[in-house]
Amino acid sequence: TYPTDENINSTTLTTPIITQTQEGDRANAAIVILCRNSELPAMRRTIREFEDRFNRKYHYPYVFLNDEPFTNTFIKSIRQLTNAPTEFGLVPDTMWSVPDWVDEKQVEEALADYASRNILYGGSLSYRHMCRFNSGFFYNHPLVAKYDYYWTWINNISIISTDPILQIKYRRVEPGVHFFCDLDYDPFVYMQKNNKLYSFTITLVEIPQTIPTLWDHTMRFAHQNNIKTNFLRMFGDEENGYNYCHFWSNFEIASLDLWRDEKYQAYFDYLDSTGNFFYERWGDAIVHSLAAGMFLNKSQVHFFKDIGYQHDNFAHCVDDGVFGKCMCPENVANFDYNGWGTCMPKWDAFPEEGIRWDFKSNG
Ligand code: GDP
Ligand code: MN
Repeated sequence: TYPTDENINSTTLTTPIITQTQEGDRANAAIVILCRNSELPAMRRTIREFEDRFNRKYHYPYVFLNDEPFTNTFIKSIRQLTNAPTEFGLVPDTMWSVPDWVDEKQVEEALADYASRNILYGGSLSYRHMCRFNSGFFYNHPLVAKYDYYWTWINNISIISTDPILQIKYRRVEPGVHFFCDLDYDPFVYMQKNNKLYSFTITLVEIPQTIPTLWDHTMRFAHQNNIKTNFLRMFGDEENGYNYCHFWSNFEIASLDLWRDEKYQAYFDYLDSTGNFFYERWGDAIVHSLAAGMFLNKSQVHFFKDIGYQHDNFAHCVDDGVFGKCMCPENVANFDYNGWGTCMPKWDAFPEEGIRWDFKSNG
């Protein structure tokens, strides 16, 4: 609501910044983006917006990763848009291949089966590589290894679906992601100073068919490793299983050491040993979220309320008023409490002190 002139006083003129970080503070952090050469047009649009809203003031370096070499055109074109350092890297085969304990024939059958059931990205092998890379490898990529924190956002242009209705629906969505608010503080420094290790802007439910056994495997891992947690209950319990809530990982600001930790590595290795990144269609968002559930407290996870963000049809909008710094498009609804499948109410209701859940190994 817009105040009338008479209502304007010193309080309404104060910019509602949640956290002021001190000038000069800086984190050892990078913007990490996995993408394809063919996504250059959408990526240029997104980088332009991201620079204008944030990075032209902060100059955080970019790391672009691709399973194929970036073209000179891609590199030159991206470099026109920023004064920040940019690095372009190849994802090695060791991080982007079907491991030898996975049965290739069974993978083929799974792809065909998922495709025939019209499950989003169900028939795509590259999508599975992408999810596995984001779950278990990107933080150790040679270009990422030197950093402590990362910010990633994903730049979607193609929804691979055999369903013609879905194809038309998604072709209408404007490519790229959007940032709606000027950000006047450094979110990496905010994370560091407040002991936050993971963050999100959108939380929602997953398509159940993509993860038939992921919750059960997570329970097994938790038992085998005597996991004691205060936060996993956000995602489910023994009685009802998984509630399908997760933080949407196409936007993340997080600690890289969270994933480099041996506890997380053991979780990933266990999940990978099942072959179900390929036989099913496990998303990295679910893996990251359940790991956060097992290994973090709620206080270590941050909701970036003040970062307006949109990807596909999902948007986190911020209405900070006539003196604010956000501009949400009029045709985009705020997903937070209106969207079908939003998990924000669950996040809000989850107690800060957590809910204790102790697992014991059976033998
Ligand atoms: P969604 O965000 O889950 O809908 O998945 P997307 O298809 O948008 O994939 C996320 C992003 O990861 C894409 O926009 C690409 O930038 C990147 N990506 C996905 N698959 C590949 C791939 O096979 N190779 C490369 N280089 N990038 C990929
Ligand atoms: Mn996408």
